[in-house]
Amino acid sequence: MTNANINTDSKVVNLHYTDRCNYLCRFCHCRFQKTPLGMDDWKKIIDNIASGIPVRRFNLAGGEPLAGEYIQKMIDYIEGKGIECSIITNGSLLTPDFIRSNQGKLQMIGISIDGLDDEDNRRIGRIDRHGNTLSNERLLELARAIHAAGMRLKINTVVNAVNCQKDFSPLIQGLMPDRWKLLRMLHYENANDNGRNLMVTDEEFQTFAKRHQHLHPVVEDTADMVNSYIVVNPQGRILTNSAVRFQATESLVNHPFRDEFIKVSFDENAYQKRYKSAS
Ligand code: SF4
Repeated sequence: MTNANINTDSKVVNLHYTDRCNYLCRFCHCRFQKTPLGMDDWKKIIDNIASGIPVRRFNLAGGEPLAGEYIQKMIDYIEGKGIECSIITNGSLLTPDFIRSNQGKLQMIGISIDGLDDEDNRRIGRIDRHGNTLSNERLLELARAIHAAGMRLKINTVVNAVNCQKDFSPLIQGLMPDRWKLLRMLHYENANDNGRNLMVTDEEFQTFAKRHQHLHPVVEDTADMVNSYIVVNPQGRILTNSAVRFQATESLVNHPFRDEFIKVSFDENAYQKRYKSAS
């Protein structure tokens, strides 16, 4: 499947502009290199994409976007173009000051929460190199700051072998996210082999979703994820994960977005299914 027939609705584009991260999640597939492209390159990429398709929102991801070298410059540049901007972060480097200073610039902050408590976070590897995890008290403080700044709060949870039996209801109810998305831990060949034993069965994933159905989570299973994101990797290349294996195009620093985008697999229907209900 190719995306030659992509429609002209504005799209959410995920810029994984850095592979850097301060965490050690066992299922992570990032390589933790230095951010390979400079800010001038990313300006070219953002301009290139925005001239190729209508962009509703750029979502800054990683790695950990707040561990990247120029997160604020990225946000400011996107805001200056009049395009919505969001970030998806592990939360550990997020501060109430950062949130307040980006009021009106960031429309949404997504926080990934995979462990229910300190012990689970350590088992999953959601821990920095100094042994620190993110406490639920700190998460609640950050959520309050996000709500006070008028930003949307999204929570992503990767259902895995450590958390699949747990009840996240009290924590999620306390955070009051606008959207809670459940994803399944995926194994990518030669990318996150260390986390293979964190995978869950179909039944475990569905049971977790059912346990929390009163919170109306958005459930995104494996089939929903394949070919349905527009992802640019830290080298500035469009990624496709059609075979549960990553493939990348030429760099968008010097190749027109449209020329590269038609090379990757993209499922417009799966994309629309995800974003039609998302604000
Ligand atoms: S927080 Fe994200 S980028 Fe960092 S190690 Fe965990 S999964 Fe990887």
